[in-house]
Amino acid sequence: MPPKAKGPVELPPMLGRPGNSVSAGLVGLPNVGKSTTFNVLCGMSVPAENFPFCTIDPSVSRVQVPDERFEKLCEVYQPASKVPAWLTVTDIAGLVKNAHEGEGLGNAFLSHIRATDAIFHIVRVFEEKDTGVTHTEGHCDPQRDLDIIRAELRMKDIEMIKKAIPDAEKEIRRDPKQKKFKENLETLETALKWMEEGKDLRFAVAHFKWGYKEIDLLNTLQLLTAKPAMYLVNMSEKDFLRQKNKFLVKVKEYVETHCPGEVLIPYSAEFEAKIAEMDLEAKKAYIMEHKVKSMMPKIITQGYHLLRLIHFFTAGADEVKCWTIRSPCKAPQAAGTIHTDFERGFIMAEVMHYPDWLEAGSEAACKANGKYQQKGKEYIVEDGDIIYFKFNVTADKKK
Ligand code: GDP
Repeated sequence: MPPKAKGPVELPPMLGRPGNSVSAGLVGLPNVGKSTTFNVLCGMSVPAENFPFCTIDPSVSRVQVPDERFEKLCEVYQPASKVPAWLTVTDIAGLVKNAHEGEGLGNAFLSHIRATDAIFHIVRVFEEKDTGVTHTEGHCDPQRDLDIIRAELRMKDIEMIKKAIPDAEKEIRRDPKQKKFKENLETLETALKWMEEGKDLRFAVAHFKWGYKEIDLLNTLQLLTAKPAMYLVNMSEKDFLRQKNKFLVKVKEYVETHCPGEVLIPYSAEFEAKIAEMDLEAKKAYIMEHKVKSMMPKIITQGYHLLRLIHFFTAGADEVKCWTIRSPCKAPQAAGTIHTDFERGFIMAEVMHYPDWLEAGSEAACKANGKYQQKGKEYIVEDGDIIYFKFNVTADKKK
């Protein structure tokens, strides 16, 4: 019997709307290891011929997202051009206690965070007595640090919502019969109350069972606590090598309580920076000796999962390209990431599932064994699909 067709994927909606170019911001108090981590990430960028310069500015860099399937496709198709998925990473300096009131660099950090799709919180669990690196808050206390940073982001959101409320009220006065305006105000007030209780906005979505109506409204405000977050717990190299740190359990508990479901990755920026400097042989030997591995690939790929992003590929002799979409995504919307014409004029998607392609060994073999399939506009793209879109652009062609 053929396998049962998959039903529609039911996933709750999420705040934010990442496009094909995805970005993450590194946040944390000063001296927690943001720049060190950023530099390691920058060093990982393998410049492809299409993007000779990966560093966009000293605090913004592009990192290639590791994907074995992409490598395999390039190996088989031998394309003239290879375009992997990239994650843009921004080192966001200037978040200190009371930054929202203008302390430190004040509000400069804000516009940088607003522009990102996800937040990587760097949490310091290495102590001054072991490393000689001063802690701006006196001593190591990751829960306190997380409280400070989360409160700063939340304060800014509260400020934004408080500004949006009078506008929403004005709309109601202008057109009291419009139900939508009243609903908008209600959503803003609910969001405000939630954050004033000390909770991040992204967790309100499931709690209030918000749908796209509320999400679209809140997305217009680009709120900081709406962005999904991941916690990078930075320990000393010594602790990382022995896989032990006395603060780790507390950080885990903190995340489970305040940020349920979000991922925590222990690593050591010091270790990563050290092995990044080594040549390949020395690096291999060091890793073997200590039985540990670099956490950077995991950090990048998990950062992607955080946003519920999946990849599909277009592949041919000219180009193999990795495209990024948020799951679940139907075929026409996936086509739209390539060009709006593809979405508007969508006819069909010719699809090979990656495992089928890998097993068959080539596109021709997939065609021969029925694994090259035509899918319509209701098709939900699967992670790794290799797709050729057919579309009709005769209707109002746009450049
Ligand atoms: P930022 O202010 O958050 O960007 O922090 P930096 O990356 O500039 O790091 C501040 C200091 O802490 C630097 O001297 C780093 O070498 C040091 N540092 C960062 N990460 C680690 C780590 O994992 N272990 C140790 N021992 N030192 C670290």
